[in-house]
Amino acid sequence: MGGYCCPNVSCAQEYLKQGEACPRCGTQAQEFGFREQITLLKEKKSSKYKEKKAGEAEKEILFSDKMSDDQIRAKIIEDMHNLTMHEAGTGWMRLGALLGSSTDQMLGAGFKALIDQNKIIIRQNELLLRKIEALKNENPSKADA
Ligand SMILES: [Zn+2]
Repeated sequence: MGGYCCPNVSCAQEYLKQGEACPRCGTQAQEFGFREQITLLKEKKSSKYKEKKAGEAEKEILFSDKMSDDQIRAKIIEDMHNLTMHEAGTGWMRLGALLGSSTDQMLGAGFKALIDQNKIIIRQNELLLRKIEALKNENPSKADA
């Protein structure tokens, strides 16, 4: 095993032929041993993952004053779907653990589930705050007392 790969970790191209330049980034093919190749391919995957995550984080906000209650509720439902998918995923991961799959993947799935749970709680808190505000406005005298 082993062979020629694009050595650039932030490039998606994996395998190349001897003497070939990478068609995506132009880096010259480099020979890798079996273990080195595994490390390289892992790094390529995780850098792809990080890029994608950073992009998503920019787009995504938990809630804003412009969002209606229904929009926030829709987001909560979306998060709950994600969470259910991750729980199904971690079931597979547990089986994977018995068969020797990577700890990183399991930790990753666990953290993602925690983040989704937090998003749900933060959004629900916003809905509660809005309800309280609305009640205060309906009964200003009671709220002051
Ligand atoms: Zn490349």
